Amino acid sequence: MNILVTGGAGYIGSHTVRLLEQQTGGRVVVYDNMVTGHRHAVKNSIFVEGDIFDSARLADTIKRYDISSVVHFAAYSLVGVSMVNPREYYHNNVVGTLNLLDVMLETGVKKLVFSSTAAVYGEPESSPITEDTGKSPTNVYGRTKLIMENAMADYSRSYGLNYIALRYFNACGADRAGDIGEDHQPETHLIPLVLKACLGKTDKLKIFGDDYPTKDGTCVRDYIHVNDLAQAHLLALKALYAGHESEVYNLGNGNGFTVREIIEAAEAVTGLTAPKEIAPRRAGDPAVLVASSEKIRRDLNWQPEYTDIKNIIATAWNWHKGNPDGFAC
Ligand code: UDP
Repeated sequence: MNILVTGGAGYIGSHTVRLLEQQTGGRVVVYDNMVTGHRHAVKNSIFVEGDIFDSARLADTIKRYDISSVVHFAAYSLVGVSMVNPREYYHNNVVGTLNLLDVMLETGVKKLVFSSTAAVYGEPESSPITEDTGKSPTNVYGRTKLIMENAMADYSRSYGLNYIALRYFNACGADRAGDIGEDHQPETHLIPLVLKACLGKTDKLKIFGDDYPTKDGTCVRDYIHVNDLAQAHLLALKALYAGHESEVYNLGNGNGFTVREIIEAAEAVTGLTAPKEIAPRRAGDPAVLVASSEKIRRDLNWQPEYTDIKNIIATAWNWHKGNPDGFAC
């Protein structure tokens, strides 16, 4: 099991790399262009600085390290930016991923775990969301991921590509070790922003909309610990090596929390108060996104270790407190 991890220097990527190194006997090769990744997030793995558009470098890396599967994280993932700059998102997430698939087919690598997102569902027709819920993304980011899910289904039928797409709900938290965690530039995600506001490291937290049809008017999301996501990637890889058919799975905790509830939980964990204000809604934000993860629990025996939101936030707090400026690079 020699695994290429594109985007392995990023947030979810680096946590997954750590688990793959601990739990598989094979090589784990991080392939990252360092546009949003952090060199210090890659600890002991083989590291190749490269872009998913660079076919020659990708093919060379796959051959050199005798790679037999790919976990593909390398993508842009900010809803707000995707609405302002769709071109960048289609280029990187669609054209870039198609390029990676070409190289995989040319080099005979046919196992892929793909980072997808709850954003493929848009404003869901029912809750909790199952994999069969209608897909109608309300933002460009979600559309780019849905396009790739459809392309992979076609490649699976025609070229024997075996993939598992994991639709993440809201990834959060950090490894217990406290040496890797979430560090986006700019940071747009709720939990790191609340914790940074508690630390006085950012401006007032803006609550994007308090007039949604939810219990307190703020958006509801399903927050899942990054190490539980990592575990799902490991199980997905093992399933592919065992001959599992191509499949798509939701990954969430199954519990929804409003923005206000997250802020309260973060304030309870830190013992600090986050300065905050109500702001207009953010374009492209659905009101409620809560997952049913029954399918992956049933098929791959996935069990989240972190189910309590305060425990999840405590791991993020451990990282932010110890690294208030994130990674040094
Ligand atoms: N949110 C907010 N203020 C912020 C950042 C996020 O109110 O500064 C809200 C956002 O509107 C959404 C929820 O928090 O309802 C989670 O947003 P995040 O960007 O963390 O993840 P997303 O759901 O977009 O993947």
